[in-house]
Amino acid sequence: MMRLLRDLRLLNLNCREATRLVSDALDRNLRVFEQAGLSAHLALCKNCRHFRSNLKFLEELIDAADLVSFSVSTDALPPEAKSRIGRGIDQLTRTSGDASGGGGGQITGSD
Ligand SMILES: [Zn+2]
Repeated sequence: MMRLLRDLRLLNLNCREATRLVSDALDRNLRVFEQAGLSAHLALCKNCRHFRSNLKFLEELIDAADLVSFSVSTDALPPEAKSRIGRGIDQLTRTSGDASGGGGGQITGSD
């Protein structure tokens, strides 16, 4: 009974609830009552239709950018650079807590 009341409530969404469902719909399949309520709201609310349109546009931009291709591969670094970065990280972790600025944190090695 409570679920039925909750589902019926979905048929009368306010804009905040509708925009949340628009966002949720990008991540999961909406339940039947959620979809019905959202469709009813969008049929009447120009602002929420505009919000959905903008969100879809952003999703398309993100897909087009193929953000995975921006990941950094350490294979591209020369061994000398990897070693220098490793020494720098070691030096940073050893001197953490010593904020005197006496050279801690320098990545360039001199050996
Ligand atoms: Zn609305």
